[in-house]
Amino acid sequence: MKRVGVIGGGQLAWMMGGAAQKLGVELIVQTPSNQDPAVAIAQDTILAAVDDADATKMLAAKSDVITFENEFVDLEALSQLANQGVCFRPRLEALAPLLDKYHQRRYLSDLGLPVPQFFAIEPQEDLAAKIADLDFPIVLKSRRHGYDGQGTFIIRDLATLQEKLELSSNNPTLFLVEEFIPFERELAIIAARSVDGEVVIYPVVETQQEQQVCRRVIAPAEITPEQVATAEAIAYKLLNSLQVVGVFGIELFLTADGKVLVNEIAPRTHNSGHFSLDACETSQFEQHLRAVCGLPLGNPTLQYATAVMVNLLGYETSQSDYQNKRQQLAAIPQARVHWYGKTESRPGRKLGHVTVLLENQNQTLASEIAQTIEYIWYSS
Ligand code: ADP
Repeated sequence: MKRVGVIGGGQLAWMMGGAAQKLGVELIVQTPSNQDPAVAIAQDTILAAVDDADATKMLAAKSDVITFENEFVDLEALSQLANQGVCFRPRLEALAPLLDKYHQRRYLSDLGLPVPQFFAIEPQEDLAAKIADLDFPIVLKSRRHGYDGQGTFIIRDLATLQEKLELSSNNPTLFLVEEFIPFERELAIIAARSVDGEVVIYPVVETQQEQQVCRRVIAPAEITPEQVATAEAIAYKLLNSLQVVGVFGIELFLTADGKVLVNEIAPRTHNSGHFSLDACETSQFEQHLRAVCGLPLGNPTLQYATAVMVNLLGYETSQSDYQNKRQQLAAIPQARVHWYGKTESRPGRKLGHVTVLLENQNQTLASEIAQTIEYIWYSS
């Protein structure tokens, strides 16, 4: 497998560029705009929305295998292509239970994996009775197309819930309600599975979100060996049961009493694994290409005692490329700045990230470095 078609051309596809070169793999991307980051590193581009299955048919004609950097695809239409022999990795059956957050929760709980209590909102039902078992706050989530906290709402009372549902009036079945987990920390784990069923797992990391958006990642997370083992067991069980080929990201909650719950599955490379570009022998992006190309998997272990990754999120609408700030960030010892080459900044948009590598396991220093990076980036 030498030609990999990638559905989606954002930063996740862009970060496959270096690995593709190293492995001698060609990337062809399907993405709506020629301003999208991965267009710059792709051998060829099909300019189309990610859910345009006719475009994916053209992509298939140029590729040996098709993979995803964005899962908001039209699975039904793609399954016709699969029936005609197009090779998708991961296979479409591995995506099918995950694209709707309610189906995903059902799949995870049927597998026996620990998840928050949840239910779907049905039309015309007595909401008050249904949520009687849950204490406020609760979490309301769009079942489809949520990302970076878009579509996730923390709701403090019944009136606000009803108001929110009326505002989004057209179809309440688009929502899922779940128990609010007063987590102690959020964790994530990246795992990859090969064509032969080999599974490799990256170190469990701590992720820090603000307003539901990932701001920082610290690798490894400072948790007990039992908690690491629990997170790894979740990853094995999930990837094996779905027979995944490729990389998956798994977001977890760690509760105050030490329990690990699954929050969300990303059926692709994930923001919580960006540290691996600089801190691991095989990055999540190379690992993903290795898996989908049928190559043996690489070494996922951390090559440094600690890595801290900070997202550079847009804080204004602008065309700036922030040269000056990027230079200041690059001057931090052991810092690597990754700039996605987006031509427009908007509040909350992921424009790049910085990873700093430490020789000692020192979470306090890691937090201080994250603060320094954010001070440079967000101060005017
Ligand atoms: P998205 O798909 O938009 O990333 P997530 O379901 O991952 O949405 O939620 C984003 C963030 O919202 C989580 O990282 C967490 O901080 C918070 N969150 C989500 N679900 C819950 C929950 N049940 N309890 C507490 N916080 C939650």
